[in-house]
Amino acid sequence: MRYIFISGGVVSSLGKGLTAACIGALLEAWGLRVLLKKFDPYLNVDPGTMSPFQHGEVYVLPDGSETDLDLGHYERFTDAKLDCSCSVSSGKIYEAIIRAERRGDYLGETVQVIPHVTDEIKKHMASDEDSGDVTIVELGGTVGDIEGMPYLEAIRQFILERGHGNVLHGHVALLPFLRVADEIKTKPAQQSVALLRGMGIQPHMLFCRTEKPIGEDIRKKLCLFCNVPPEGVIQELDVQSIYEVPAMLHREGVDSFIVNHFSIGSGRRCDLSLWEEISAMAQRRDRHVSIAIVGKYVDLKDAYKSVYEALEHSAIANGCHLHIGRIDADSILDGNLDDIFSGFGGILIPGGFGCRGIEGKLAAIAHSRKKRIPFFGICLGMQLAAIDFARNVIGLAGANSTEFDPHTPHPVVSMMDDQRDIATCGGTMRLGAYGCSAFEGTKLHRAYGAKSFRERHRHRYEFNGAYGGQFEKSGMILSAVCDGGLVEALEIADHPWFVAVQYHPEFQSKPLRPHPLFRDFIGAAAEIGKNNAAPDS
Ligand code: GLN
Repeated sequence: MRYIFISGGVVSSLGKGLTAACIGALLEAWGLRVLLKKFDPYLNVDPGTMSPFQHGEVYVLPDGSETDLDLGHYERFTDAKLDCSCSVSSGKIYEAIIRAERRGDYLGETVQVIPHVTDEIKKHMASDEDSGDVTIVELGGTVGDIEGMPYLEAIRQFILERGHGNVLHGHVALLPFLRVADEIKTKPAQQSVALLRGMGIQPHMLFCRTEKPIGEDIRKKLCLFCNVPPEGVIQELDVQSIYEVPAMLHREGVDSFIVNHFSIGSGRRCDLSLWEEISAMAQRRDRHVSIAIVGKYVDLKDAYKSVYEALEHSAIANGCHLHIGRIDADSILDGNLDDIFSGFGGILIPGGFGCRGIEGKLAAIAHSRKKRIPFFGICLGMQLAAIDFARNVIGLAGANSTEFDPHTPHPVVSMMDDQRDIATCGGTMRLGAYGCSAFEGTKLHRAYGAKSFRERHRHRYEFNGAYGGQFEKSGMILSAVCDGGLVEALEIADHPWFVAVQYHPEFQSKPLRPHPLFRDFIGAAAEIGKNNAAPDS
């Protein structure tokens, strides 16, 4: 197993995760098996309890791990099989160490950052030694953060122990363009590399995030002051679509540098045809589709990251340019629904927790139901579709989820009895992949082209099956159930496309394998919305 470490410098949000994922994609194009891991220096044990306002979406893996959204990039760009060992935080590291200390595992030693914390970090870095050719480890945060120090120290030790030929360090740094000076500046990157070198780490590659192409003079300067070979200075330009990044990094020589460094290229060649195909498809689009996303975290681009990416995959597959309207659920009640949604071919309600914005989302759902606008409800979106239908079609006044009204006369969405029993232990979420079955003749079955499928979950409340008969009698079909019999999907038969699912299909969409439900939703929305003017995204 070879190891690639990716750190970041100067500022956060540079796209380290994307860079790591694209390196993975390039190595897979060489026929190598990759594994990707993210190390986050915060003290939460996992990001499950963090607000999307701070860290963006919580990404869920098949085994139910709640992880950082960068793991979404890893899955979208590579075929790596990810599990809980691929998302590590300081909270997880310290939890393991403190448990071991209480068990008496350290036999009278003083437990310290070096070697105990660094050893534990190294153990997690190399926990899947036999399951691939290259492990790519991304370090969250920015070089210089106090929290990140033990990780950099662990990397330094790791390089020493494994040998330079088996480890490669890539540093992603910002090259700011100063408009007044009309110049790209290298000093912040130099200083960030100096910090790394001060900790005993000499990066082999420098990924230069820049909005303007860098000239030969800048490259030479970076080589000299950062002590990186010329082929190791990589220009990573801003691009229109993130799916162009693998081909762009390939042109910069990233994969050849890595395979040469590790001496693993002989007898192999790079086949980038999949990424070239997706770039070509993205450029060939000749239609437009506009989707309104009604949520409470719409100001933050990363809060519904996987939903946006899944929509983009399907838009590319349908030959459409995608326009997304982010609509704050709270603002809906003050406006005219026809005006708010004019120009949109489809309405999507993503997952969510808590009471804020619920009535606005319900109004959006009722609008799409009555005006026959394609609707896609995800998790909370399905629960709200059930509440709207119960109140306004079946006539169950006051119907609600017990999450929002514990005393509702009609708990059409509620917590199951067996979940209530474990509520005191805090383990109430249904997390991870479950097997589901779609009923024949439904839009869902048609989309999947199969009866059985597996989808990932992250929720506490369920559709209350006791109301199933009343829903079906009034025209809302229960179109899938999970292996345990819980309702997984609802759809309105007499509607162009009104589908709502309890799970999160967005986590399984890939650029070249768009999720079938997103594909059909975008297809329906493009058809319905084709005469509407596209609003600005
Ligand atoms: N709040 C709802 C529940 O816990 C929906 C969760 C979600 O949308 N992920 O069941």
